[in-house]
Amino acid sequence: MVPSDERIGMSGVNRLGRLRERLRKEGLDAILISSPENRRYLSGFTGSAGYLLVSQDDASLATDFRYMEQAAMQAPDFQIERIGGRPGWFLKLIHAHGVRRVGFESENLTVAMHSALEQALSKDQNGKERELVAVADLADRLRQIKDEGELEILTRAVEIADHAFETVAPGIRPGVTEQEVAWKLEQEIRERGAEALAFDIIVGAGPNGALPHHRAGEKVIQDGEAVVIDMGATYQGYCSDLSRTIVVGEPDETFRRVYETVLQAQLASEQGVEPGMTGAECDAIARDVIAKEGYGDNFGHSLGHGVGIAVHEYPLVGPAAANELEDGMVFTIEPGIYLSGWGGVRIEDIVVLENGKARVLSKAHKRPQVGGH
Ligand code: ZN
Repeated sequence: MVPSDERIGMSGVNRLGRLRERLRKEGLDAILISSPENRRYLSGFTGSAGYLLVSQDDASLATDFRYMEQAAMQAPDFQIERIGGRPGWFLKLIHAHGVRRVGFESENLTVAMHSALEQALSKDQNGKERELVAVADLADRLRQIKDEGELEILTRAVEIADHAFETVAPGIRPGVTEQEVAWKLEQEIRERGAEALAFDIIVGAGPNGALPHHRAGEKVIQDGEAVVIDMGATYQGYCSDLSRTIVVGEPDETFRRVYETVLQAQLASEQGVEPGMTGAECDAIARDVIAKEGYGDNFGHSLGHGVGIAVHEYPLVGPAAANELEDGMVFTIEPGIYLSGWGGVRIEDIVVLENGKARVLSKAHKRPQVGGH
């Protein structure tokens, strides 16, 4: 269900309010937003270029000629400024906002743009009083708590991937290639209303399932092989992320044992996670189950990650993740076991923390056996 414009508008104001509160805490007069995800989140503007300058009293969106009309329509809370070739727009804005300490997104702003801004400030009459201050993830952290409208959109993105998997998986047979499976999934995702894939679909058959960098290649799927499938849909700007592992025909003993271990690890963390835990504590629930079965060294990645406008965002959910998990956060739970030369098993759901526990959004079934003869 698509949220009404009214609700998007209201949450937009709310988002700016939360950003301004953070600016006050950091002693900043304003922040320059350059990350595309934060630009969209804070302003509603979906164009591919532009910067936001947000201070306590003002909010401006600077974009180029192509987007002037779209920006005015999509970002009614912002004053729209046209960007020319040079960062004159930036000086104009900081003068208009009357700000001194301006944060910038150090994990996103290019070195070239940073130099151009510094240079513009140094040539400016009052520029010496002004200061660019590196802030890392201040705005990114705002996105980790999802509002009701975002949850509706995310749920739809999840459903699209679930349905694509359930439509395509039963037809996977020995003799088809990884690429053919990936293409069928992509078609289903697009035909069900996604505007894009959230990322290149992974189909890793047999030994390829153990390669974390593998996408989908020309390998022909063989009888008895495990196939790791990892995919997501982008719907109204929000990403889903779903992994399932299937086995074509009769599974071997390794598959039975590895699959059961990964599944138990996943269910244990989905049932055990609660607000107040750190990402590391959530990760440890699954890691302990896997380690007890002797596969501790074969689970080489984090248990999960936040997901939203970006397919990887806050909160962090891994062995070193100190951030606390809270109600309203949406993240993946995706333990895996990878055995070099044999293959891998990964099972991934998206969950939302609600009323003190995890609600699993992903509904695609976890019965691995398909095809065969
Ligand atoms: Zn994922």
